[in-house]
Amino acid sequence: MSTTSKDGCWGLVQVYTGNGKGKTTAAIGLAMRAAGWGKRVLIIQFLKGRDTGELHSLARLSPLVKVIQAGSGEFCQPGERPPGLAEATERALGLAETALASGEYELVILDEILVAVSAGLAPLERVLKLVRHKPKSVELVLTGRGAPPELEAEAHLVTYMTEVKHPFRCGVEARRGVDY
Ligand code: ATP
Ligand code: MG
Repeated sequence: MSTTSKDGCWGLVQVYTGNGKGKTTAAIGLAMRAAGWGKRVLIIQFLKGRDTGELHSLARLSPLVKVIQAGSGEFCQPGERPPGLAEATERALGLAETALASGEYELVILDEILVAVSAGLAPLERVLKLVRHKPKSVELVLTGRGAPPELEAEAHLVTYMTEVKHPFRCGVEARRGVDY
């Protein structure tokens, strides 16, 4: 961990997981908060390739905040692997490793990486290595359902979003500006 007087204890590992809504939203909110204090932020979105409101909002925070989408563009059901997704995930892992080592970013968010691990697309050992060897100066956030216990054990902060209710259950489909 790295410590400065204003930032306190910067450089922790955070995990946002669980089956309820709000993991990616929380990570994007954190990016905005950090950028407000001049922090350089990188967000890599695993498995994703769709247009979302946050891409447009975060573009306004460029060059402080950078977003890279690393999905195939297809909607991915559990157990399915659209063509190109394995290669895209591999590229995203390489980018994450390089970005962490570069010292260019103070906050790195690996959105949906935990889903990539559960799906067998991102090897757990490689992600554990990435977490264990990250520079002390980088705050690292991992999001996605189904965090493996080994990654939770490495984290300093673990938050579960628990579904109590979701309008999806009443047939409400994904809403622009709320869900994407
Ligand atoms: P968000 O992106 O809204 O913060 P999330 O990151 O917690 O949600 P994911 O598990 O990444 O959720 O799911 C991706 C999509 O599924 C989002 O559009 C999200 O709104 C929606 N979603 C989240 N939780 C649920 C749920 N319990 N049931 C149905 N859909 C959900
Ligand atoms: Mg999400």
